[in-house]
Amino acid sequence: MFSQLFSESNLPRFRQQQIRTAWFDPAISGWDEVTTLPKGMREEFKVQFPWMSLTSVRLQASQTAHKGLFRLDDGKLIESVLMVNSKGDWTACVSSQVGCAMACDFCATGTMGFSRDLTVDEIVDQMRYWRQFLHTNPHVSGRLSNVVMMGMGEPLNNYDAVRDAMWSFVDHMGIGKTKVTVSTVGVKRGMDRILEDESWPDVRVAISLHYADQTKRAEHMPVANQRPVDELQAWCKQYLLRYGNRNHYLTFEYLMLEGKNDGAQDVEAFSRFLKGIDRYKVNLIPWNEVNNLAYNRASEARTLDFQARLKKAGILSTIRKSLGREIDGGCGQLVVLGEEGG
Ligand code: SF4
Repeated sequence: MFSQLFSESNLPRFRQQQIRTAWFDPAISGWDEVTTLPKGMREEFKVQFPWMSLTSVRLQASQTAHKGLFRLDDGKLIESVLMVNSKGDWTACVSSQVGCAMACDFCATGTMGFSRDLTVDEIVDQMRYWRQFLHTNPHVSGRLSNVVMMGMGEPLNNYDAVRDAMWSFVDHMGIGKTKVTVSTVGVKRGMDRILEDESWPDVRVAISLHYADQTKRAEHMPVANQRPVDELQAWCKQYLLRYGNRNHYLTFEYLMLEGKNDGAQDVEAFSRFLKGIDRYKVNLIPWNEVNNLAYNRASEARTLDFQARLKKAGILSTIRKSLGREIDGGCGQLVVLGEEGG
């Protein structure tokens, strides 16, 4: 595909530039339309380098979101979501793996198990697809201005591909680094690499915390066994020393799981966790129902009450509007059932 094209063909620089421009142009949907190239070359590339590494299988739409199911070259299936905000700008929620190995017990993707990492092209093509979708669909308007690596998979378990894909968003799609967010549940190796990696794009990092108490976290999120909460806290401090500035903070995502993580002890644990972490935002996220998982969505009243108790403990938070819920495209709801997905 795209990366292969440059490594395998001996193209002069101006040709590379022509191809790059066309490849990321949302108005162009195939080699035939790359009229800057000679016809023979287009025909050759058409056979060797498919324009997209994924094919849309199904699209579902609600007022605020579109969810796409995509087939990859090896038949595996992934999902990706496009959501609109109140200003009319779009955010793509992009997947990084087929399934996920992290097995968080409140997450639909976690129930699939892990199948494989996505390639850089497969990650980038989710964005190219949505850009083309917005460009060609007369019923939707607005700009794709943000991307969150929060779809299927743990992005930092596919570190190199995710990092390179994020550079593509920034370099070739005009998306500012502060408009790109990568989320992680806290995997040790990937997080430690961020601190040392000179080629890491300093995009926003969101930590899917959900449980701030070590015992509880380990019970529901196995990642806490490899990186306990106190080490995660230490990492956050180091991260902010390295990357923190006026525009740069950490985001903590906290799913509201009724009766599981919304009690008085949870407020205390959260408060302890945030001690010494000075630049952060907290998002409280209504959990989206997933069949067969032993959780309940916390009511709005309960969520507001938790928010008030956090505030009393000095922690300001926002309650994130849950987009895409009606098409099972909300946070933690992406799952592909059946053999090909897992
Ligand atoms: S919450 Fe994220 S890391 Fe955990 S199982 Fe789901 S996709 Fe994987």
